[in-house]
Order: sequence, then C-alpha cells, then structure tokens
Amino acid sequence: MVTAHRSFDGQHVEPLPARNGRGNHFHKDKTEKGTNREDRGTDLGQVLRKKTMRTAIRAFPVLAVLSPYLARLSVRAVTSNRRILGLMQREKGVRRFGVSILKERPLLSQIHITSYCNQACPMCNLWKNPVMMGYEDAIRILDISAEMGVFMANITGGEPLLHPKVFEIIDYASKLQFFVHLNTNGTVPVEYFKRLAQTELDSISISFHSLKPERYERITGREDRLEKVIRTIDYMRENSDFHIALAYVITSYNSGETEEIMEFAKSKGIPAKILPVMFSPTDRESSTSNYDLLPERSELLEAIEKAIQFKQKEGTTNESFNFYNFCKKAIETGTYKWDCKAGERFFTVSPDCRFGICQDFPTGKKITDKDFIQVWKSESFRKKMDAMRRKCAGCLWNCYLDLEPLQNLFKDPPVDDLLSTINPF
Ligand code: SF4
Ligand code: SF4
Repeated sequence: MVTAHRSFDGQHVEPLPARNGRGNHFHKDKTEKGTNREDRGTDLGQVLRKKTMRTAIRAFPVLAVLSPYLARLSVRAVTSNRRILGLMQREKGVRRFGVSILKERPLLSQIHITSYCNQACPMCNLWKNPVMMGYEDAIRILDISAEMGVFMANITGGEPLLHPKVFEIIDYASKLQFFVHLNTNGTVPVEYFKRLAQTELDSISISFHSLKPERYERITGREDRLEKVIRTIDYMRENSDFHIALAYVITSYNSGETEEIMEFAKSKGIPAKILPVMFSPTDRESSTSNYDLLPERSELLEAIEKAIQFKQKEGTTNESFNFYNFCKKAIETGTYKWDCKAGERFFTVSPDCRFGICQDFPTGKKITDKDFIQVWKSESFRKKMDAMRRKCAGCLWNCYLDLEPLQNLFKDPPVDDLLSTINPF
C-alpha cells in the first residue's frame, strides 16, 4: 500500500508550527476547534480523568513487566474495551509491550512474507519483482522479533494470502502472543478467507479503491475486483471477530470518493482508513514515482478534512486525529518531517529477509543473519539508522505515524493522542 510526499504544486509553503513539549511535529494544533479533546471542555472532572489516565499509563509498563495479572487489572480499571481486555490475556505479549515501552524497543515488525500479488496496481512496484519468503525464515524472523521486544507483527505483502504457509505463519505469530495484523487486497478465492477466519488474527486491513467497478479495474489491472472485495468484507464480518478496516489510498485514479467510501464502511459496521498515496520522485523502495497518480493538493486536503469530520461525528475512521491533522499540515506546508524512530521503534523485513528501518529504506543487513541482534544494538548500526532517518524528507505512512504517541508513552504520557490512537479498537 502506498502514500504522498512532495510539495504539490510549487505554491508558497508555510513553515510547520513549533514543536510541542514532546518534540512532536505532528501533534495536533491546539487552536483547531473541535479536532482535539481539549476543545471539549476543561471542567474539573475532565482534568481529574486525564490525571488518572496519565498516572495509569505511567504505571502500566512497570505493572506489565512485573505481573501480567496486575497489568490486566490496571487495564480493566481504565477501559472496558473488549479487544484491549482480550489482548491482556496474553501474558508474554503484555510483558513485551511493557518492556518495549520501558526500554524503548520496537513496537512493530512489518513482515513482507511475499511480493507476489494477483493484482498490478500502478502505485506499487512490489509485484514487479516477485519473491517468496521461505517458511523457516518467516518463523526465524518472528522469533527474532520477539527477542527484540516487538509487540505487534504486521503480516503483509504483496498479497500475503498467496504465501503457501501463511496460516502456519499467522498461527506461529499468535503462539508467540504478538498482536497480529494482516493486510490483504481481499480478492483471493473465498476459501482462503474461510481458513483465515479460523486463525487467531487480531486485525485485518482490506484495500478498497473505489465504489465504481471501472475505476477499480483501472487501478488493479483486473476485472470483477469490486465484487470480490465486497464478498470478502461480508464474509469476514459474518465469520470472524477480527477488527476489520477498509484502506482507501487516494490517487488521481480514484479521488473524490472519501465520503461515499466512509458511508459504505459505516453501512458495513467497520471503519475506513483514508490515506494519501505515498509519492517520492527517486530514492524510495515503496513510494510511487509516477506523478500521474498524484491527485490535486486541494482534493487531498478535502479528503482529509472529510475524514476528520467523519471521525468527529461517527468515530468510524480508523486512523487517529493526530495522523489526519499531521497529513493536513504536511500537505498544506510541504513539510513531512516528524519525530521518526524508524529501525528502533518499528522496522520492516522484505521477502528476501533484508532489515529495513521502514518500508522505504532497507539496510543491507539480513535480519536472519546469526549476529543480527548484536549488530542492530551496536553503536555503528544505530548511527547508520540515524543517518538514514536524517536524510529522509519525512512521510505520511499511517502505520508508523500512528505509533508516534506510543514512542514516549512512559516518559510523557500523551493522553489525548493515545485516546485517539486506540479509538479503532
Ligand atoms: S494489491 Fe498488490 S499490486 Fe496492489 S498495492 Fe497491494 S501489493 Fe501492490
Ligand atoms: S519519516 Fe521515517 S518512517 Fe517515514 S519514510 Fe522517513 S525514515 Fe521511513
């Protein structure tokens, strides 16, 4: 899946506002009415609730490491959310989450188990170089991720359901008690989804490009896709209790459908992700360099504004207010830099096992190498990752940006950000 990066039409760009106290570029503009919780009243009860939440968050990682039982109780005290409570049943996962937060270890491992795909989307280069990750390698990567302290495993592709051992890989990730997420284009035969529904996956994103069949066909390069995706959505809703979200990546081929797609998702009782296409002219692995795919800046801003309004009204868009407000500012100003900790708080693994600080920037190192963790922890590798991040002009990758509030969770609990981030659960 792919999102944008450039100053859209060479117009004058304003500098980003000063960082807030947490050194966070994309924290919401406190003056924007209605887009953050602080605008919704500052009575004593609210202040007390925030203080309690802040204290609970600060205490949680310690409790999680010391005792999953206590951690479960502490979470039960601050939320009645069924999904979060379900996660608390996983003692190893809870411990790893606590350790990740306390020791600043990675929260997310994004594993591309294949680049094979049954579609040929123009904003994506993965299908052009089909590689299948070996099953033993996938298992080893999950083991290494657990050792590194990862909390969430994102199984992705290409189309990950085309991997001959995808269900075994998901089962193994569940056994290691990761929070397990899968991205799919939703168009492989329904038998795959029948089997998928039997796994202990936690959440799934299904690409959703358009409500117009001819647009869908133009984007994917295949016929009958819309019909197939709707069949998959209906099947998964009826036969699984996974958290399901639709992913609408806005390009010039499908812009202008934000409202309709959010309404469609609402009619199915699931949230939608509204994501600008990721663009970069030259130096990135996963971003498109095709200018023709870029929608007008005004179209993107309108789509993001609609997503914010829909989220305020219905609560049924998947990404946080943080993410959408950052997208808005970035598209307006042409400044995409944020407090990125790629390679340290999240990372990517390509089908040939290369470790990437994110999906745009692979390193030359294979995660399956015997000395990988030692190398990853070394001063020289940290410096290399830091240099890659500093060279990068920023991005709008939702899966990484929405982890940002968790990066400094223990030091400076971002209560508003966190509340908006966990909204999709
Ligand atoms: S469906 Fe396949 S070709 Fe299309 S964006 Fe996803 S991985 Fe790329
Ligand atoms: S900002 Fe970070 S996550 Fe985004 S492309 Fe750059 S290095 Fe990768």
